[in-house]
Amino acid sequence: MKASTLVFDSETASRPNIPLSAQEERILALYPDATPLDWEDWRWQIRNRIRTLDAIKKIIKLTSTEERGVIGAGDKLTMSIPPYFAALIDPHDPGCPIRLQSVPQDYEFETAPEEMRDPCGEDKDSVVHGLVHRYPDRVLFLVNEMCAMYCRYCTRSRMVGDGNHTLNTSTYDVALNYIREHQEVRDVLISGGDPLTLGDRTLEYIISSVKAIPHVEFVRIGTRIPVTLPQRITSELLAMFKKYSPIWMSIHFNHASEVTPRVKHACNMIADSGIPMGSQTVLLRGVNDSPEVMKKLFHELLKIRVRPYYIYQCDPITGSRHFRTTVETGINIMQNLRGHTTGYAVPTYVIDGPGGGGKIPIAPEYIVSRTGGRYVLKNYAGELYTYVDPTY
Ligand SMILES: *Cc1c(COP(=O)(O)O)cnc(C)c1O
Ligand code: SF4
Repeated sequence: MKASTLVFDSETASRPNIPLSAQEERILALYPDATPLDWEDWRWQIRNRIRTLDAIKKIIKLTSTEERGVIGAGDKLTMSIPPYFAALIDPHDPGCPIRLQSVPQDYEFETAPEEMRDPCGEDKDSVVHGLVHRYPDRVLFLVNEMCAMYCRYCTRSRMVGDGNHTLNTSTYDVALNYIREHQEVRDVLISGGDPLTLGDRTLEYIISSVKAIPHVEFVRIGTRIPVTLPQRITSELLAMFKKYSPIWMSIHFNHASEVTPRVKHACNMIADSGIPMGSQTVLLRGVNDSPEVMKKLFHELLKIRVRPYYIYQCDPITGSRHFRTTVETGINIMQNLRGHTTGYAVPTYVIDGPGGGGKIPIAPEYIVSRTGGRYVLKNYAGELYTYVDPTY
């Protein structure tokens, strides 16, 4: 090891002293020049993502379904897994939830009649490139196409990928002008791709420009980085965010096994810097489609100050049939959460109306009957209670 590699730069100096797991050590050893300090460096993690058949084969023994998936995904939604996230894969279990989310399978190349390229109808509601204005008072601002890890069920697979660079400073300026001209916009949700794959300076340009618009009350950042690449959450990044408070963060979490010591540390840093966090979870077959698995995830999230926000029914994106559950599965999960555990652990279950309907809440039926102002209600345990409206 060269002496210079031992110098802590300011980013790694803010890292916790979390020892590498046996699997992390094993994967790090596949990179002959790499050191444990590199493992803590998010740029090293990005540069060294697992993207080829040869690379993934050194980490897990692929099933034939996966092997065909990895080969075929090459020119579509490419495989891309940070070494950190790859170390969470159970190499012996093809049903491992981390593996199902990150390693392509050839089912992705099948299509079902209900599937679409743009299931949420975002292109239709784009007012300028990269800006979706669907709801009255808030906009979705897409700032890049790159993610650390490409989720195999991604609802934006039509646009995400390292090779796509249609979103950049020139589209930002057009989007910013639109927001400036629309006084009704009080909330700007910055997403992508994953905005946190951008460098601090570009992010600061985006956030400071949005916050400089007088009618914008706050920004939110939609990201999966704290889960797939927690090393990206540096004290420099958070010091920058703090200048633009209030900032909220929505983090895409799907399974309790994603809540590792590094993720806990990252979320604690985020919470300590005054950023409230909510989670967004995609209901996925084989990954989190039971009340027990969801409850465990939400309990883990509350412990790291992340409030469960949404469970999304998996969008009918092309090639997603193997991931999608019935709506009944989602309703059953909700029924087994409400009342059975901490109310803060109960998110809202939504279906994004295919074609551009936006988020539509789906809930178990608690009103058994209504006669005028007389409601017969069912509580969480299935017992009936009657509520009578006041008369005036
Ligand atoms: C999800 C979404 C939002 C934000 O919705 P909230 O319910 O406020 O979190 C805004 N715009 C679009 C297009 C969205 O899909
Ligand atoms: S992080 Fe979000 S945008 Fe990126 S691949 Fe996953 S679901 Fe898609």
